[in-house]
Amino acid sequence: MKVTFPHMGNMYICVKALLDDLDIDYILPPFTSKKTLEIGTKHVPECACLPLKITLGNLMEAYELGADTVLMVGGCGPCRFGYYCEMHREILHDLGTNMKVITLEPPHGDVKEFLRRIKNLTNNAGIFKILHAIKNATKIAIAVDDLERLTFKIRPREVEKGAVNEIYNQFKRDVINLKGSKEIIKFIEETEKKLLQIKTDESFKPLKIGIVGEIYTTIDDYTSFSIQQRLGGMGVEVHRYVTVSNWITEHIIKQTLKLPRDLRFAKAARPYLGTMIGGHAQETVGNTILYAQDGYDGVIQIYPLTCMPEIVAESILPAVERDYDIPVLTLIIDEMTGEAGYFTRVEAFIDLLHRRREKKQVEGKYILSGN
Ligand code: SF4
Repeated sequence: MKVTFPHMGNMYICVKALLDDLDIDYILPPFTSKKTLEIGTKHVPECACLPLKITLGNLMEAYELGADTVLMVGGCGPCRFGYYCEMHREILHDLGTNMKVITLEPPHGDVKEFLRRIKNLTNNAGIFKILHAIKNATKIAIAVDDLERLTFKIRPREVEKGAVNEIYNQFKRDVINLKGSKEIIKFIEETEKKLLQIKTDESFKPLKIGIVGEIYTTIDDYTSFSIQQRLGGMGVEVHRYVTVSNWITEHIIKQTLKLPRDLRFAKAARPYLGTMIGGHAQETVGNTILYAQDGYDGVIQIYPLTCMPEIVAESILPAVERDYDIPVLTLIIDEMTGEAGYFTRVEAFIDLLHRRREKKQVEGKYILSGN
């Protein structure tokens, strides 16, 4: 059995650690590229969500390298993510790949069943080995997200332009050559030290932008045209609440163990969107309000064309913009999106935020929060 799984941002790092620690043979799909998107677009129905197209492309590329089993997380709730496994299974079958698709549903309280499925994958590994591997993979997911957050802080302030990208991009390339959580954790710590040694201009006060929207398009660099790196290069500090580790801890671990969740976003969103409607729509509305309350200069919402929850969130955001006096730019992505047009809009938004800040400074209203 040669397992594979689709890409989603930096998720490959913690999944790789988990599979290494459990001695599961796997094939990491090549990083997402134009070819990946072309394969997915060719075989997935036109109106399906973009992440479904890209992830199918990942699986087909891994199949060409010898993978025969797909590992996917399942989903529930009122959006199309819950159908991804079935769609993948049927399309892969129609394409004659004979790939087996194994779905790991969030356990919803039934931890025994969840562990039993993992045990089947691992040739009956001991329960302590499985729990230890899950713990280390979670630790890595958190550490990788912390590392990325550090790049968001340092990049706009770096004295030598490109210093952060050089270290961080090399980390993302080289980490695939390591084996097991121990080596990966050590490499993350070494990379963090290197980033902290970068010379920064602490007197510089960057614009601050919160990134909200559908999880895949906000965290996956290929899909978002590396918007977070590009904004950092333009002297903008970004922040994003939605991350892989947040999804693992809030949606899987805490829900399974019935631990209290961080629901500040839901409380903030309640007057506008009082219920979970699927995807991250409630987070999009709630986090936009939290960013406004924290003095951010603006918010960028990103989502794939036809994403139902984010369409609802987008229709609510003008009211949030008005009530909280925070500018919001919405970017919708599909396979036809052109990078130049996309960044023309981003640059115009940055100009607007600069002018707005200058006007507020002249009027004496601007408070340098958190800078
Ligand atoms: S959140 Fe949006 S893009 Fe993601 S599966 Fe649901 S509808 Fe599709």
